[in-house]
Amino acid sequence: MAILPIVMFPEKILKQKCDKITSFDKKLAKLLSNMYETMVEADGVGLAAPQVGVKKQVAVVEIEEGSGAIELINPEVLEADGEQTGVEGCLSFPDVYGEVSRPYRIKVRAQDRKGNFFELEAEDFLARAIQHEMDHLQGVLFTSKVSRYITEEELERFEDK
Ligand code: ZN
Repeated sequence: MAILPIVMFPEKILKQKCDKITSFDKKLAKLLSNMYETMVEADGVGLAAPQVGVKKQVAVVEIEEGSGAIELINPEVLEADGEQTGVEGCLSFPDVYGEVSRPYRIKVRAQDRKGNFFELEAEDFLARAIQHEMDHLQGVLFTSKVSRYITEEELERFEDK
């Protein structure tokens, strides 16, 4: 496994719609492992393939280290309801944090690293993290959804709660 360099805004690839994965091969397994390792090393809760320079619909999410990575390949939202507003950051935007409103609960259909389809329901922060990563696969960045940017001081107050 290897730590991959993280692509920073405003690199063009971050604004491009990613291609679907069609071969579920060793190369994909390696990409997923490397993305996971890179995310953990960077202290992130999610990482999308374009953030490591790969224009493919692949994302990993793990909101609590050691809880088990969720691997999402070619994901689509089947259902979304409710609303939540919370603070987001992004590994491609160091030191940028802002409040984003998103559906509270989602149901997603995706493929695993072998190509098998599965459905996943998530709510609250996990739903937020998954939606943030899925947006990356469409070239949508969280900054386009921020209602209010927050300072690092304010962020510390959020984290103390
Ligand atoms: Zn991001």
